[in-house]
Amino acid sequence: MRLILLGAPGAGKGTVAKMLTAIDGSVQISTGDILRAAVKEGTDLGKKAEAAMKAGDLVSDDLIMGIMEARLQQDDCKAGFLLDGFPRTIPQAEALKGLLGRLGIELDAAVNLNVPREVILDRLTTRRTCVDCGAIYNVKSAPTKVEGVCDKCGGKVVQRDDETEEAISNRLEVYNAKTAPLVDFYRGEGMLLDVNAESSETVVAAIRQHIGH
Ligand code: AMP
Repeated sequence: MRLILLGAPGAGKGTVAKMLTAIDGSVQISTGDILRAAVKEGTDLGKKAEAAMKAGDLVSDDLIMGIMEARLQQDDCKAGFLLDGFPRTIPQAEALKGLLGRLGIELDAAVNLNVPREVILDRLTTRRTCVDCGAIYNVKSAPTKVEGVCDKCGGKVVQRDDETEEAISNRLEVYNAKTAPLVDFYRGEGMLLDVNAESSETVVAAIRQHIGH
């Protein structure tokens, strides 16, 4: 399947993407994960992205399109892909449309994960992430077996730098101003699937029904 996953930070895009990859071998492409890896490795890309990320601001559209243009042409994307955290602005959505047109790729849908703000805030403040494999935990609802250690790879599980209260509130404002308009954009393209995303299982079921997988 080829999907865009839309939704506020903490709406569950990463969790849903990981569940979907297990169904048909599609790859999860998370621009946030790609950028965090670049910051950790100290690459040029990481240096350019680090300050914006830490503050909860967006990285420039040019930088993101450079990453995605290369990523979408890698071989593993032939099995399908789930775009998690991209596009995040109207210029990115327009550029993606042009890129997919040039590559001859059609998307199945843009799925909007709707979650009430209180749930988002609670999820983000209690979320923990593995710095090595990106696995997602929650101190309340899905803790690691050993505190601070990833069940899957043994990596260190931490609260992300951009999950302080200040950065979270900025990320939600940035989402409302820059990313929420994509819902109307994809509705206009006839591609939108709007789902109630309080439970990730329900989202996966709604997507499978919609695209017939
Ligand atoms: P995420 O893990 O998707 O919440 O992304 C973490 C951070 O990476 C965001 O707060 C942005 O600073 C940056 N980022 C990720 N994806 C994008 C994107 N498509 N456009 C701009 N910035 C992005």
